[in-house]
Amino acid sequence: MTRPVARRLAVLAVSAAVMSVGAAAPPSAGQNGVEKEPVAVGHGGAVASVDPDASAAGIEVLRGGGNAVDAAVATAAALGVTEPYSAGIGGGGYFVYYDAVSRTVHTIDGRETAPLTADENLFVEDGKAIPFADAVSSGLSVGTPGTPATWQTALDSWGSKRLGTLLKPAERLARDGFTVDETFRSQTASNETRFRYFPDTAELFLPGGELPVVGSTFKNPDLARTYEELGRKGAGALYRGKLAHDIVDTVNEPPVDPQAGYTARPGDLSLKDLSAYRTKRQAPTKTSYRGLDVYAMAPSSSGGTTVGEALNILESTDLSKASEAQYLHRYIEASRIAFADRGRWVGDPAFEDVPTKELVSQKYADARACLIKDDAVLTSPVAPGDPRNPAKCDTSGTAAPTTYEGDSTTHLTVADKWGNVVSYTLTIEQTGGSAITVPDRGFILNNELTDFSFTPASPAVHDPNLPGPGKRPRSSMSPTIVLDKHGKPVVALGSPGGATIITTVLQTLTGFLDRGLPLVDAIAAPRASQRNQTTTEIEPGLWTSPRKAELEAIGHGFRQNAEIGAATGVQRLPNGKWLAAAETERRGGGSAMVVSPAP
Ligand code: GLU
Repeated sequence: MTRPVARRLAVLAVSAAVMSVGAAAPPSAGQNGVEKEPVAVGHGGAVASVDPDASAAGIEVLRGGGNAVDAAVATAAALGVTEPYSAGIGGGGYFVYYDAVSRTVHTIDGRETAPLTADENLFVEDGKAIPFADAVSSGLSVGTPGTPATWQTALDSWGSKRLGTLLKPAERLARDGFTVDETFRSQTASNETRFRYFPDTAELFLPGGELPVVGSTFKNPDLARTYEELGRKGAGALYRGKLAHDIVDTVNEPPVDPQAGYTARPGDLSLKDLSAYRTKRQAPTKTSYRGLDVYAMAPSSSGGTTVGEALNILESTDLSKASEAQYLHRYIEASRIAFADRGRWVGDPAFEDVPTKELVSQKYADARACLIKDDAVLTSPVAPGDPRNPAKCDTSGTAAPTTYEGDSTTHLTVADKWGNVVSYTLTIEQTGGSAITVPDRGFILNNELTDFSFTPASPAVHDPNLPGPGKRPRSSMSPTIVLDKHGKPVVALGSPGGATIITTVLQTLTGFLDRGLPLVDAIAAPRASQRNQTTTEIEPGLWTSPRKAELEAIGHGFRQNAEIGAATGVQRLPNGKWLAAAETERRGGGSAMVVSPAP
């Protein structure tokens, strides 16, 4: 989606002191002092997100003495208001936290879970997979939300403020409204048909029965009340009590318009599912890369293992000296191989025997790297290897099926004045999630369970991503934090974009760490995404560049993708300074802010 016009907060008052300084793109005029800039440099902490209102909410918390975890929760809650089709309390995500005192990285898996009654036939009817689109807009695809529990877990573990305090900026934003921009309208338009199936969704997002008008104020008083309730009672209020009942009723009997002629398949979510939901505090993946340590999400996300394996494969080449075409060639081939292993080995570790450590071991990467040639291209699907028994240049495995993943989601990155860092990706799966709004509650439920494989592969090959009771669907979300040899942060980043998240994070990291690009330029660089498929997706910037022909000459094939990902990041500079960076163009540009801009 493009976002040509910035969405502006009508009421969130932010003093001029929190405005960012920019560099790479012209600033857009903001209301009430909220400027949108892709780069900001300064002291006191930093926030980068896709949305100026959301970044401002985080900055407000940092200015009020909150830490990075507090600010991340406030920013995420504000994104639930202004980016309701990408993120919110009806979804899930992955939270990565660097603690400056102990110089250690911690993670929270806040992924949605399948109902306890689910089995591998969740999406099978009469022996066949149901149509993907029917699964998306249904109760069947809704997993138990993990986002409220993620916020509570993060705050209980490392926060300094109460949830109620941190939800206030978002609550205000929901109650008083934000200004509708082109993207909000066009995202609503692309969902209009299915939003009309569900009267509660239509009432909220098609006010007066029409698409929201650009420049009008969009209010969501139901969400303001829901945030107020969660703030007062704690996130547990979503998992027990009236709100939990409302969610269960909505999923199991989707409130569909009888005139719409649409059958919304019911889910089978129970109060037990909600009350049994737990986030997981778990060790991050750790990959050593050119003297740095790259920390990311371990399964149930495939982000950490796949980015990590690809980095290890790339480490055998000095990418700083490679030509641009050779750099892209290596990057594409490393992604291809890492995706082959992701498909075969990664699923929810509570159900699958996932060789997480082995996948990110240098020994395994070396065995896989030998498949790459300088002057030829691997043929996809490349077979997976066996991380537990690495065999050099092995091609004997059988490729697992690839699953479609949506391209919505949002990523935010925060640093505070104490040096703590948060890298947090959250989602409701595809743009507009399941399209089912919980009546009178102001938020859309996820369709995350469509990230599972729909049917066992035929001919049979082990697929670690089939549905199961209470199982987490495999994700690609890759919130990442890189530390130097002293355990101090270098950079933190992440992106939305379904399975392309992995390649976006990998390409941005290598652009920044190896190719010497400033962070904002590494984010802006035209993207390529190879996921063990015949052709590699490339953005227009590469499609029209001489690199395309150079790569085609050694056997690469391409297809165009107008826009891949929407990354944000922060970089630690000397003397307590931070640089926040976001997109310059994609989705109309993101929003980087710091507490005290450097002159
Ligand atoms: N559901 C996807 C995942 O967990 C993310 C969807 C997206 O980025 O749009 O990987």
